[in-house]
Amino acid sequence: MQQTIFERIIAREIPSTIEFEDDRVIAIRDIAPSAPVHVLIIPKRVIRNVDDLAEQDAELIGHVFLVARDLARKYGAVDNGYRIVTNCNEHAGQTVFHLHFHLLAGEPLGRMNSRPPRPSGSTRTMLFEGGLLVIAAIALAAVFNSINPRQIPWVKKEYERTQASQSDLEKYLAVSDTAAQSKPIDVAVNTPTPEPTKTEPAAAKATAAPVASPASEKPMNSFVADPGKVLEIGHDAFVRLMSTGSFHLIDARTPEKYAEGHIASAINIYGGEAQSRIPDIIQAPRDRVILIYCDGGECELSHHVADVLKQFGYGPIFIYTGGWAEWKTKH
Ligand code: 5GP
Repeated sequence: MQQTIFERIIAREIPSTIEFEDDRVIAIRDIAPSAPVHVLIIPKRVIRNVDDLAEQDAELIGHVFLVARDLARKYGAVDNGYRIVTNCNEHAGQTVFHLHFHLLAGEPLGRMNSRPPRPSGSTRTMLFEGGLLVIAAIALAAVFNSINPRQIPWVKKEYERTQASQSDLEKYLAVSDTAAQSKPIDVAVNTPTPEPTKTEPAAAKATAAPVASPASEKPMNSFVADPGKVLEIGHDAFVRLMSTGSFHLIDARTPEKYAEGHIASAINIYGGEAQSRIPDIIQAPRDRVILIYCDGGECELSHHVADVLKQFGYGPIFIYTGGWAEWKTKH
């Protein structure tokens, strides 16, 4: 069995402040005193706790108490009083499983209490004040959030993420010649037309010159609406859908990020403000697919916008999951 800390102290492998020692016991200062005088009187023989005592140990235990009495006298603790306790097993809180007796003195020790200590007055005050602070912080955040035009939702909405299948895409990949030649029409929203950005020529190229379509892609004569359908797509599908020339392209990032650079012909509807843009959004014609992108990854902002569009029967809506982060690296 592994040695206890007290065996190692007795063997002088670990230092301690020894108050008394003879051939049967050692008395040391407790490393974490619970009172001004806190001494442990430890029989040297390995005994787990009181429950491990045998008849022949009666004399040893008597000796322990006499040592404790003498130590209490030495510390001048007799008149004011002192306490001798020993803990046995878990409910008593025994932590070192080598029999020992605590001698406590030097201040009023309170009533013997079988209950675990309750929070003291100062702990209770601290908890109360801490609670008040948390409530004040939450209230402040709520007020700030309610007046902030870019409100942060209290509960993060989990969107359903469905990948577009090949057949989902095929319906919209090919358009009639006329549609393919037409330039994408801006969604009728009041977004100021931004200055051209470094990626605009690349995107314009993608719009004017469709990427090679697979032989299976047949020209489609009319747009088939799929209201409320939201699908996620990767870069290639995104480029191919743009190559049809018939789409609404929405950048769902913040106006600041949009101003720094965006995909050509994209209009900006910031995902955090999609609800307040409803009056603008519902003016957009519903005769083409909607493509949305944001920073990529979880595409939360794109999904916010898609959610609003969905409510008004727009669809299909394709979310480009690579977003601006990926687009930048590829164009
Ligand atoms: P128990 O919780 O088992 O009744 O008491 C064990 C006591 O041993 C505790 O009061 C604890 O502070 C004390 N103690 C634990 N490790 C050491 C140590 O390494 N040196 C000394 N002097 N006391 C210790």
